[in-house]
Amino acid sequence: MKVLVINAGSSSLKYQLLEMTNESVLAKGICERIGIDGKLVHETEKGKHTTESPMPDHAAAMALVIDTLLDTNHGVIASKDEIKAIGHRVVHGGETFTASALINDEIEAAIEAVSDLAPLHNPPNLTGIRACKQHMPTVPQVAVFDTAFHQTMPPRAFLYAIENELYDKHKIRKYGFHGTSHKYVSQQAAELLGKPAASLKVITCHLGNGASICAVDGGKSVDTSMGLTPLEGLAMGTRSGDLDPAVIPFIMEKENLTAAQVIDVLNKKSGMLGLSGVSSDFRDLDAAAKEGNKLAQNALDVFAYRVAGYVGRYAAGMNGVDAIVFTAGIGENDTGIREKICAYLTWMGVEIDPALNAKRGQMLDVSTAAAKVRVLVIPTNEELVIARDTKNILGNI
Ligand code: AMP
Repeated sequence: MKVLVINAGSSSLKYQLLEMTNESVLAKGICERIGIDGKLVHETEKGKHTTESPMPDHAAAMALVIDTLLDTNHGVIASKDEIKAIGHRVVHGGETFTASALINDEIEAAIEAVSDLAPLHNPPNLTGIRACKQHMPTVPQVAVFDTAFHQTMPPRAFLYAIENELYDKHKIRKYGFHGTSHKYVSQQAAELLGKPAASLKVITCHLGNGASICAVDGGKSVDTSMGLTPLEGLAMGTRSGDLDPAVIPFIMEKENLTAAQVIDVLNKKSGMLGLSGVSSDFRDLDAAAKEGNKLAQNALDVFAYRVAGYVGRYAAGMNGVDAIVFTAGIGENDTGIREKICAYLTWMGVEIDPALNAKRGQMLDVSTAAAKVRVLVIPTNEELVIARDTKNILGNI
């Protein structure tokens, strides 16, 4: 069974075609600059192929993706009919979606109804769904939500300490994101440790350009660092993460900005980029810090300190922790940051082996034999989770 996974952003559309009998990736790619001009980069085992072609909208991008998948030179399928299902990444499912869902008119309307919680993300996700419907009207489509895994959080974790009426009226609460990644790596951790997920307390650190941490108790998310939006929590590539809410009107007044402009600054010009003035990319920050750039060093210090702080908080929240997982671009590759974070956690029984920690990008336990809390590096695979969920949902209908 072949499943197409779609992740539609405002001007981009990422795709991956998986053969689910062996979970192999047949092709993957990205359409960029949709609505501007249009560029598609398509990758198969034969290599990379780039097409520049006008993409006025997502439907045009989707048409090109299908053509490329069918292409005699770069394609991997002989007919569109080989695609048996489509799985979509949908960022916000609000409180409505606690699991992935087979898309029909009602589900589409429900996704639309929670769009005010993610105005930058859900509308493009819906555009992707509609573009697929236009080109493949009979192929079943499934929505997989970034927020769904975190719907098991108890009220003590998801409630903000604001008037309860605001929660009742507007559903203002913590939702959390990166759910597919936290779910996948926590399950992989159980496999690596050879124990049932139900018996484990795991803290998963998804450290990429966007970064979040999740407390997973018995296989269920019980707390996570992102909030109503993906701005809360860790200091990220360009996002500030946690700050005193009073900072916002203060910046508005001092810099003569609107609330929306300040939020834009906190989303796009803050975090590692804002602190360092160098870059949001950890490779650049590591290099600059090595050359003695103090601001780059400050940024790395803030990042590591905040990750360690959340790990401590979640260890307390779960009254223990068996394993800490590092994943995503930074978590999988930046051995120095892993070392820096773990140095804060020796009190809880974390002890990493420097030789093991020097490895990158592969699934492994980097702890010493004596460590009480295991530290695992597990490459994430959000597309695979989306494809598996899609396959499972179709198996159940
Ligand atoms: P992601 O959002 O998961 O794709 O992660 C992207 C981020 O991972 C980049 O912006 C880098 O900061 C970081 N990254 C990727 N490769 C490395 C590496 N080899 N060393 C350090 N950081 C890396």
